[in-house]
Amino acid sequence: MIETIINKSDVGSFYKCLKEEFTVYGVKEKEEGFYVFDETDEFADPLDDYKPTILPPKKYLFPQQETLLRFETQPQPVIQPVIESKKQILFGVRPCDIHGINLLDRIFSSDHEDLNYTRKRAETVIIGMNCLRPCYEHAHCASVGCLDVDDGYDIMMTDIGSSFHLSIKTPMGQEIFDRYANLVEVSNEDRDKFRKLIKERIDKFEMKFATDVSNLPLLFKNADNDPVWDELNDRCLGCGRCNIVCPTCYCFDVFDCMELNMTSGERCREWDACTLKDFAVVATGENFRSTRGQRQRHRFNRKFNYLMTKYNTSFCVGCGRCVRSCPVNIDIVETVNAVIKNNKAEVK
Ligand code: SF4
Ligand code: SF4
Repeated sequence: MIETIINKSDVGSFYKCLKEEFTVYGVKEKEEGFYVFDETDEFADPLDDYKPTILPPKKYLFPQQETLLRFETQPQPVIQPVIESKKQILFGVRPCDIHGINLLDRIFSSDHEDLNYTRKRAETVIIGMNCLRPCYEHAHCASVGCLDVDDGYDIMMTDIGSSFHLSIKTPMGQEIFDRYANLVEVSNEDRDKFRKLIKERIDKFEMKFATDVSNLPLLFKNADNDPVWDELNDRCLGCGRCNIVCPTCYCFDVFDCMELNMTSGERCREWDACTLKDFAVVATGENFRSTRGQRQRHRFNRKFNYLMTKYNTSFCVGCGRCVRSCPVNIDIVETVNAVIKNNKAEVK
């Protein structure tokens, strides 16, 4: 890990230079208080304060809709895989979203490698932006162990006042920094300031769960009949928004689009959501999770039990997007704490 400094006044030119070689996606304010990752011409400076973007940056690695292959049925059947990628930089990514991408890396590269994802990921440079205080009331990143991030980024920026401290993590991070910016020796003063800010920030982040996150798989395993699912059954609208905005949800549906000639077409995928009514319908017509309460129970078990047991890490990274997006204010922290309260005998 190499440490360097960039003056705030030089970030704009660094950003512009990156655009010579990469498509650069930065953060911009779409409307008051709502931010998006988008291809921006210039470095805007909401980075210090921006709340989690409406959609997470995973959309550049796993797009909402994507063509997987093109096919023709006549005169001979022909199938042509479509795998698109380009050199891109995600600029200003928060630690929670880097954790989200790290989880998707594991999902899409284990068992059956998903080339549509891994090729994009291989060409993506991530420049992170450390959080020194909670970005908004729904953030619970510290509660799920996602405030600090050790890997998954190339460069991490930390605001230390008139400049950013940069931790350069990878050879790619080093290469682009060497090419586009001037390495400035980190003074002892800068280094001390950086260390102090990182050390002191932890007290600003509340631990919002009533138990350590590592206890959650056991609690959820024994909570199949918890009354909280009945309550969510009554409240949830089954709209799917909580899944769609989540940086770790990765379910997708696959469908074919035929041309009018009915001999050629495309096979596409698009994001799906386990909270939608038809998600668990099978070919014979049965629906294994026909009620909204069952679907919520499944959603929470995916975050804190099934995948957490398999990968030994929480599949909620604490961004709070699902809470902000829910039209009936279903709050993931409240639900987790209700499960903890009702099942606490399970935890020694
Ligand atoms: S479950 Fe909610 S808070 Fe957790 S990562 Fe997904 S959107 Fe963020
Ligand atoms: S956003 Fe809220 S109402 Fe919609 S499916 Fe998710 S929990 Fe239910």
